[in-house]
Amino acid sequence: MTQWTLAARAAKMNPSVIREILKVTERPGIISFAGGLPSPKTFPVAEFEAACAAVLKDDPAGALQYAASEGYGPLREMVAHDLGRQAAAAGTPWKVDPAQVMITTGSQQGLDLVAKILIDAGSRVLVESPTYLGAVMAFMPMEPEVVSVENDANGVDIADLKAKAAGARFLYCLPNFQNPTGRTMSEAGRSALSAAAQATGLPIMEDNPYGDLWFDTPPPAPLTARNPDGGIYLGSFSKVLAPGLRMGFIVAPKAVFPKLLQAKQAADLHSPGFNQRLITQVMQGGFLDRHVPTIRALYKAQRDAMLQALSHNFPQGEADDSLTWNTPAGGMFLWARLPKGMNAVDLLPLAVDQGVAFVPGAPFYAAHGDPRTLRLSFVTPSVDEIHRGVAALAKALDVYRHS
Ligand code: PMP
Repeated sequence: MTQWTLAARAAKMNPSVIREILKVTERPGIISFAGGLPSPKTFPVAEFEAACAAVLKDDPAGALQYAASEGYGPLREMVAHDLGRQAAAAGTPWKVDPAQVMITTGSQQGLDLVAKILIDAGSRVLVESPTYLGAVMAFMPMEPEVVSVENDANGVDIADLKAKAAGARFLYCLPNFQNPTGRTMSEAGRSALSAAAQATGLPIMEDNPYGDLWFDTPPPAPLTARNPDGGIYLGSFSKVLAPGLRMGFIVAPKAVFPKLLQAKQAADLHSPGFNQRLITQVMQGGFLDRHVPTIRALYKAQRDAMLQALSHNFPQGEADDSLTWNTPAGGMFLWARLPKGMNAVDLLPLAVDQGVAFVPGAPFYAAHGDPRTLRLSFVTPSVDEIHRGVAALAKALDVYRHS
């Protein structure tokens, strides 16, 4: 009999709590506010079709051969140029050297690579409260002590950060349209956080897959632009082109870039050269400047439909007596809180019975999850489904109340 002995590290790899929860919701006919998937309506299929043919015609050997671990040069240049352009427009010049850009297999790989080079067993890692569960899952095999930092109206609570920063390897944060809460760090919050990080010597890992999906005004400049030597920036093409390509990038300072590159080599040699050329080809001539506004318009209309449906179905009563929610300024998610005494995990089966699904918020907290919170994605259901889904949610709450 073969004896398989798992590494102690494997015990730290657990199935995503959310995926487990979502299994209950995978019934035909359910209106799902649960998934974190971009709307397939936004995938530029015709452009990809044309780009596939062009790439295979122009540079078949380059596209199909092994390649450099850093990534495809013209794509790294495009990324560096776009980040510089956006930061300047937001009022903070950021000169991104293409040599500091590494193309990754989704930004999820960026999280994994950074974890590998920066976390030892027992290292303290700071995260927001709540935070992106996929990041915590990437960090856990390195056996960190994950510590939540409180949030205030502007972003991270600076006093709490300072109290917890000593010896921490980094703060992981999502300043724009956060997953799961949809919230955004203000300009004041960013400058205070950047100053506090510099004062305490704390590196920042800034994850920004949603930043381009603003609805009315672009968000303030990235944290990394304010202190490029003190931050690692993770970006993604998943939400502006298509997640199936698994294309993302890291901008890392000279102090860590060579190690990240070694980690990348060991992980997968390089990200698919064909996909890197495809997106370079698609993005040539400013495609994203025309395409991304169409995604923003779609998602904004969907957010508005959800806000309208929530106001219609959940009249605001006494504090703690009603469902409450925020108004995300971009991205894909809205964060809601149930009346006092209710628990989103208990509500979920009742909601599924009524034909609607969501994700309970508690698993997104590294500690002391708020059981009343839930995440609602507004991007994949149609406007009609949003209205029907929110009405179904209201019915489920009634059933819960009277149970
Ligand atoms: N970071 C955050 C905050 C996310 O929400 C996601 C996707 N759900 C990722 C990273 C990973 O994105 P990808 O690997 O597709 O770039």
